[in-house]
Amino acid sequence: MKRNCPQTARWLHWLCAGGLVLGWLVTGAQAQDPTLPRVQYAIVISVDGLGGVYLSNLFARVDNTYPIPNFKRLKNEGASTLAAHIDNNNYETLPNHTSIVTARPRDGVNGHRWTSNSDPLVGQTIHSVKGSYVAGVFDVAHDNGLRTGMYANKTKFSLFDTNTSYPGGGSYNAVNGALDITGEDNGRDKIDTTFINTALGGIIVNTFIAQQKTNAMQYAFLHINEPDSYGHSSGWGSATWNSQVVVVDTMVGKIFKLIEQDVPAMNGNTAIILTADHGNQDNPPTGAHRYAVPFFVWCPGVAAGADLYALNASNRKVASTYPMTTYTGLQPIRNAEANNLALQLLGLGPIPGSTFNYAQDLKVTLPPPPVITGITHDGHGTFTISGTADRSGKVVLGMTPSLTLPAWTPIQTNAVSAGVPFSFSVPQGADPQTFFRLMGQ
Ligand SMILES: [Zn+2]
Repeated sequence: MKRNCPQTARWLHWLCAGGLVLGWLVTGAQAQDPTLPRVQYAIVISVDGLGGVYLSNLFARVDNTYPIPNFKRLKNEGASTLAAHIDNNNYETLPNHTSIVTARPRDGVNGHRWTSNSDPLVGQTIHSVKGSYVAGVFDVAHDNGLRTGMYANKTKFSLFDTNTSYPGGGSYNAVNGALDITGEDNGRDKIDTTFINTALGGIIVNTFIAQQKTNAMQYAFLHINEPDSYGHSSGWGSATWNSQVVVVDTMVGKIFKLIEQDVPAMNGNTAIILTADHGNQDNPPTGAHRYAVPFFVWCPGVAAGADLYALNASNRKVASTYPMTTYTGLQPIRNAEANNLALQLLGLGPIPGSTFNYAQDLKVTLPPPPVITGITHDGHGTFTISGTADRSGKVVLGMTPSLTLPAWTPIQTNAVSAGVPFSFSVPQGADPQTFFRLMGQ
């Protein structure tokens, strides 16, 4: 049984035929709706040093000393967790942001292999260190004709794109970006607008907003540095640090206003994904304080208020240790899943060669709750179960020989469309008693 929706389970039919007793149990379960909402704008935000444990503490406060109404909007209107995991082997800014941009771990055969946390040298790119081209989110978005932007609060982000002040790196600039072999040639410069500025206090977000109002980007990546800077100077979770999260919250509020008031085309048509590169780098009391980060998905159609782990119970699991020591087996949600999700919400496929959420199977919507509308028997040992669902997705027919100790086995999966009747044909089995159920997946 899926653990989220037992309250929706109900008996619908009992049938007796040829000495066999069959029952159908209908449940709506948490799982994927592959017909995700599509948006035309995606904003991926990384808040440097925004540790999930510390943000959780702010959410838990009952006083109003550090108001975070916009983070609460992200949580209440979006799907989220405060326990996403960063890279297993690294808790520094640039390797983790390279993971976020490329959706790869740092190490291993599929790793991006960028280990430095310093400003890249002139001409030094992710590709030159790896020894082969490492595609990132900017490749996919730009090659598909989207306008792209990067707004970063640290100079080391020149690794992704150079500008006049920061000439090192430039992995996705006009010189080092890959040829565009997808449809129309949009060129090698994968990032149309790059803004790198180390001033705190909002210049990153304010500049993005100003430019978005005049020449909108469909895909933008924003890096905000307050929690990292004040974490190092004042301590993660300190009063100063908490106040700086409030400052970031105000920036998020401006982004909501941008979407809902300033640019009409973005309203109802924009996804925000917000995560972080790491938590407390300096003196974390536990591994979670360093390796756990938030992951918010705010988007039309998303399961409002849902816990991402509950939506993804079959394919993601909260980290068993911080840090995780393996990339095999059931994995936690990763900060570096953000961009393959963003691309999916934009209607695009994953970053070539990437690892995290390459299947784009991180679920952010509720499953379709199927309803049985009829059951017939053809007199020759075959039942037909008809149903409908109010959302598109997959519906799984499962069976078990007993409800005392149920062992549900999925036996058929149908892709269904919202409002379009579907049916399953089920041969009568040899068990004297069999129970069936339908679940959205
Ligand atoms: Zn950082």
